[in-house]
Amino acid sequence: MTHSAHTKSSPRLAASLAWTELHRGAARAVILVMAILAGCQMNSDADLPPVRLSPPVVLAPQPVPAYHPTAIATERPLPQALPQPAASHLAPEPTAGVPASWVPNVPANHWTWIIIHHSDSAYGSAAIIDKWHRDRGFDELGYHFVIGNGTNSGDGQIEVGPRWTKQKWGAHDNALDNRYNTSGIGICLVGNFNDTRPTPKQIHSLVRLVVYLMRKYDIPADRILGHGETKVTQCPGRYLNVASIRNQAERIVAEGKSSDSPDQYAESR
Ligand SMILES: [Zn+2]
Repeated sequence: MTHSAHTKSSPRLAASLAWTELHRGAARAVILVMAILAGCQMNSDADLPPVRLSPPVVLAPQPVPAYHPTAIATERPLPQALPQPAASHLAPEPTAGVPASWVPNVPANHWTWIIIHHSDSAYGSAAIIDKWHRDRGFDELGYHFVIGNGTNSGDGQIEVGPRWTKQKWGAHDNALDNRYNTSGIGICLVGNFNDTRPTPKQIHSLVRLVVYLMRKYDIPADRILGHGETKVTQCPGRYLNVASIRNQAERIVAEGKSSDSPDQYAESR
């Protein structure tokens, strides 16, 4: 019975509940809308699309011009021949073509004479005559040049003595006031030219050397003398014709020719 009374009041309760449910539903809807709005605001930063950073820039390598050495070389102008100086009528440079040992590295002595000697021996060389001279009390080889005859040095070989390298006064001719030692260039040919003739190569070398010295030191031909022309002595022997040497050298210097041309020499008689 009680149960039936309770059943009678049920429609009123249901309406109340329905009302309540309606309010709750409305509240949920408001909350939901607010939550959506708030949520949008709260997530506005986090949900922004990521900043689109520019991707790393990878520079492509610059194209390198191809290197074509051959092509470049062929584009260069060919070297042009330097203009040649006008032909000179001057005498050849005295030192041109001469051995370096003929040109000392010290200031030149004042040379005004060329004195020609023989060694008065069948054999010899600069080293051997140097010993002979030292044995006689000389400071060293007295001549400035020695021209060999093929015995102890080459036939026609011109040896330069230590005096010439130092441009030191000579010890080969003490005539007069010693002028030929002080300012005379002493040249000795190996041989005894009272007995034998100088070899053609010795004469060739002698003329070549005399011509060089005349040009280099401005020595006139009349100052080319045999030892016997300065004092009483048989040096350089009757078979060495000093006058012929003097004439040949003078002609070569006057004509401005090279002293190295073999056809410039006549055999000394
Ligand atoms: Zn002499």
